Amino acid sequence: MATIITEECINCGACARECPNVAIYEGGHEWELGGVRHPAPVQDIFYIVADKCTECVGFFEVEQCARVCPVDCCIPDPNNPESEAVLIERARQLHSERNFTPGFPSRFRK
Ligand code: SF4
Repeated sequence: MATIITEECINCGACARECPNVAIYEGGHEWELGGVRHPAPVQDIFYIVADKCTECVGFFEVEQCARVCPVDCCIPDPNNPESEAVLIERARQLHSERNFTPGFPSRFRK
């Protein structure tokens, strides 16, 4: 997990619509991975599921949630930095149907 939503969130929902990994959920709503549903870890603001976030590696050169957030509350988690190698491997696992070629988009290559 390298992107988190801080308590400044105003619940606009803009970020959730942009995430290529469906990693963002509204507070109080269950999240899902591989057909398995999990209870919401956060109740009052949107949240990002660490196991589904790739920092948009594989899809975009910048984190899309951070790009659209009107109050800039989608930020890197200083307590959990992850390498590009880890993040693209996560993208491959989440999107087994997709072929990520060596030139895949990544914020690490901006
Ligand atoms: Fe989704 Fe990208 Fe935000 Fe991670 S950084 S939650 S992959 S939009």
